[in-house]
Amino acid sequence: MNGGRLAFAILYYFEVKSMTQDTTIAAIATGNAPGGIGVIRISGSNAISVAEKVFSPMDGSRLSDLEGYRAKYGTVIIDGKGSDNGVALIFRAPKSYTGEDVAEISVHGGMLVVNKTLQAVLDAGAVPAGAGEFTKRAFLNGKMDLTQAESVAELISAQGEEAMRASYSALQGSLSKKINAVLTQLLDTSALMAAWVDYPDEEIPELEEAQLKKTLTHCIHQLSRLLASYNNGQTITNGVDTAIVGRPNVGKSSLMNMLVGKERSIVTQIEGTTRDVIEDSVTLDGIVLHLRDTAGIRDSGDVVESIGIERAYKALEDAELVMAVFDGSEDLNRNDLQLIEKCRGRNAVAVINKSDLKQSIDMDTIQQSFDNVVTVSAKEGLGPEELSACVRDMLGVADFDSTAPMLANARQRQNCQNALDCLTQAMDGVKTGITYDAINVMIDGAADQLLSLTGKKATTEVVNNIFSKFCVGK
Ligand code: GDP
Repeated sequence: MNGGRLAFAILYYFEVKSMTQDTTIAAIATGNAPGGIGVIRISGSNAISVAEKVFSPMDGSRLSDLEGYRAKYGTVIIDGKGSDNGVALIFRAPKSYTGEDVAEISVHGGMLVVNKTLQAVLDAGAVPAGAGEFTKRAFLNGKMDLTQAESVAELISAQGEEAMRASYSALQGSLSKKINAVLTQLLDTSALMAAWVDYPDEEIPELEEAQLKKTLTHCIHQLSRLLASYNNGQTITNGVDTAIVGRPNVGKSSLMNMLVGKERSIVTQIEGTTRDVIEDSVTLDGIVLHLRDTAGIRDSGDVVESIGIERAYKALEDAELVMAVFDGSEDLNRNDLQLIEKCRGRNAVAVINKSDLKQSIDMDTIQQSFDNVVTVSAKEGLGPEELSACVRDMLGVADFDSTAPMLANARQRQNCQNALDCLTQAMDGVKTGITYDAINVMIDGAADQLLSLTGKKATTEVVNNIFSKFCVGK
């Protein structure tokens, strides 16, 4: 009876449910640039009647007579005149992205046509959609939870394949499933404890302390694992700030070009060509590295070059990953030794370049100074695989499984941490023998945090904040 009561209470816990959503909204769903096709998306109870005012099917039928998942070819009417041919696609509530009636009108993708069609849709009674409003409605209508909604934004902004896979996995509900599994155990335990405390006269079996400890241990373990994988997830989704440093002419720009796969930095034989910091992002084995190719580090009287060198040192200090480049065909000189010093205590890999030439570098010194050493020839394109394997290893993501449940952002991490803290307290409480109703408060506290994480109990503020970061049209 208590389990039922609790579940019932949770179902009606949705503060966010009170957010009104009775307007019909519209926005351009495709990018803000000319393309082959532009899509205007309309959602709300009047979506189909609004679409009907700007779109007439060629076969004389009416969009409002169309079943869901059906499309019609027809004329787009702007300012009362047929202005383009397009396709209207109809989704009927609740079988749509938002869970409402949805119409999508595809027109030719010139920005004028697309903007004019949107204006016609607005004139026909829709209002402009706010940032992320389609996805927000999908959330409010129970089509997805908050972790899935957030993964939509991440999928859009994903740069690396691993990040894309991880976001897709979250969209499929991998994190929700994991959180809900923990939540179910907590709620069951809480219900049992509440029943036993509230109705001592009924014949409700007392929860065995051993069973309680087992459940808490299991939940603590699950949440701890999620938290432990957070940093790796961040590395994968946000990319890694990487500095390429070394004295002039060792091949920093060539290395960057090899990694980026195009002539991004200027490669010349004149020392000091890269006067400032050049930035680019590259995907190395699925991980995004934000590369900074810096000015060659050497003693310089040139003012501009000196500023560049200072920035190179700054980039080195700020970087999460340092690629210290050395010329394998030359002996280490004073500038190389200075760089070795600067790399001490940093997450640095020594990249010994020019492996295609006869080698004369003192490898003993390099091996003693760096935990990670890779030999490459940027010119010949040799060694990128070894470098990427080494980088994955250094970042601790060598065995990263992008399909595993993963906390995707600081909000989710905080909720998870708070839940874990409550459960750790509860476990300490069990060990010290405090009363079950006090322990139950802690378990409920943990459940609350997990409900916030998935959005079943999230405040209006949190929800608005999440969707404000989306683009319009999503
Ligand atoms: P940076 O000053 O460190 O950025 O060095 P660059 O990338 O501009 O390269 C300096 C010179 O070294 C250029 O002439 C490159 O062609 C040459 N170079 C770069 N990498 C290699 C390599 O792997 N092998 C050989 N033989 N030459 C290279």
